[in-house]
Amino acid sequence: MTPSSSPRAQVDIDLDAIRHNLALLGARTPGAEVMAVVKADAYGHGALPVARAAVEAGASWLGTCSLGEALDLRRAGITTRLFSWLDVPEVDFAAGIEAGVDLAASSVGELRRIAAAVPAGTQARVHLKIDTGLSRNGCPPAGWAELVSAAAAEPRVDVVAIWSHLACADEPGHPSIDAQAKRFAEAYDVARAAGLDPKRHLANSAAVLTRPDLHFDVVRPGIAMYGLNPVPQAEDLRPAMTFRSAVALVKRIEAGESVSYGHTWTASHDTNLALVPAGYADGVPRSLSGRMDVWLGGQRRPVVGRVCMDQLIVDCGDFEPGVGDEVVLFGPGTKGEPTAREWADKLGTIDYEIVTSMYRPRVRRRYLGAGS
Ligand SMILES: *Cc1c(COP(=O)(O)O)cnc(C)c1O
Repeated sequence: MTPSSSPRAQVDIDLDAIRHNLALLGARTPGAEVMAVVKADAYGHGALPVARAAVEAGASWLGTCSLGEALDLRRAGITTRLFSWLDVPEVDFAAGIEAGVDLAASSVGELRRIAAAVPAGTQARVHLKIDTGLSRNGCPPAGWAELVSAAAAEPRVDVVAIWSHLACADEPGHPSIDAQAKRFAEAYDVARAAGLDPKRHLANSAAVLTRPDLHFDVVRPGIAMYGLNPVPQAEDLRPAMTFRSAVALVKRIEAGESVSYGHTWTASHDTNLALVPAGYADGVPRSLSGRMDVWLGGQRRPVVGRVCMDQLIVDCGDFEPGVGDEVVLFGPGTKGEPTAREWADKLGTIDYEIVTSMYRPRVRRRYLGAGS
């Protein structure tokens, strides 16, 4: 690889892995439709290519957070059912309704705003959200009967589904899961009693993998589609994202020389250093300085000294890498390279945050696998 063709920093997205993961999730929920969650630019993987791969692998719905995300997919030619669930009051619901995007309502006020935006002679497809215990979005149980009857009486609205979201599905056996399921069942009874016949959806990835009794009509997996496992049990998921760079410069320093800002690391022996042109502006957290490895030249090697805005330094000992040699910052972990989960564990966060923050203007994205 010549230096000019090697990336500063690059994120590879394996669309075959996305398809594999979605096929696995689909096989686990034979009775339900799969809504592939592609919010936040598909958790940093790129909404449009992931949406296409997900549909190829059997997703019959795509879920986004904002209406803008859903409209971008529609305008790019995605014809699959789209559901977007969280927007600001000023959002232009009419554009969503005209584009055939299903909308969510958590309150009578939201339902009224949607109804008021419905073009004459049409209907908005709405999913009513019940807050079963996450205490975030959704209608609290006390207001549910009112929301349901307002929706049932609103001719401009077609109630497609009722839905909710779990707080602790990634801790199988957590008592809140059953408590939320019970409230969800009660909310469904209220909707039926009001004359509605909605679909139901509740399960995120963790519930898809561990609670078949909560799959209902549609499931909403996100993280597992990207190959990251939210539950303690092992699953045959393939992480789709690899973050890589390439050696830009190699130099030998003598024992006693210190490295990078603050001189936090001093060589105890003569050693070869590899300069890697990826830093915190590219998604390498500065707080991993001195406690991360990269995969370089067939093994893990430590990053020494501070991670800078644009670059980091790897201690290679007596191994002499070539300029342009591949450096893997994180990947699926199959060769022994660090993973997004390993970064997350060190940083006290979850791998969701690691991959989702990998959308950076300076980081090149490349798609691998069929259809890329
Ligand atoms: C993000 C999200 C999901 C997907 O959750 P995962 O844990 O990534 O599977 C499902 N439903 C809603 C409402 C979400 O916001």
